[in-house]
Amino acid sequence: MTADFEAQLRAVSLRVTRPRLAVLAALRDHPHVDTDTVIRLVRADHPTVSHQAIYDVLRALTDAGLVRRIQPTGAIARYESRVGDNHHHVVCRSCGVIADVDCAVGYAPCLTASDDHGFVVDEAEVVYWGTCPDCATARTTSEPPGRKEAH
Ligand SMILES: [Zn+2]
Ligand SMILES: [Zn+2]
Repeated sequence: MTADFEAQLRAVSLRVTRPRLAVLAALRDHPHVDTDTVIRLVRADHPTVSHQAIYDVLRALTDAGLVRRIQPTGAIARYESRVGDNHHHVVCRSCGVIADVDCAVGYAPCLTASDDHGFVVDEAEVVYWGTCPDCATARTTSEPPGRKEAH
């Protein structure tokens, strides 16, 4: 797998460095994690890599298109290494967990705009919001019967 990461880095003319390989490995094993989690994961295996180095790596990889930055409205930015397939995300309103949703319909842009205003549309970004199974279960077991949450 490291060889794959090296090839990916070379393909976008980035130098192969240990922190870059470590960040790509962390994101492969833990998709949709925030910056703090990336730092924790990388430093667990590579304690000498600084926070700043990891910030810089995330920025470089995102700019190069090897990493995708996802920032649902009102949520903290997350990163993933699944790029280039225009997949969407479902986000839990309660705990913020994110899961992948493959293209809604066929190939990008997945959705047809009701009015494209003459633009050539090549991508659509959709965020599905809801409650994850864990939070749904916690809600039904912790709430006294008969009482409905006010919104
Ligand atoms: Zn949840
Ligand atoms: Zn994703």
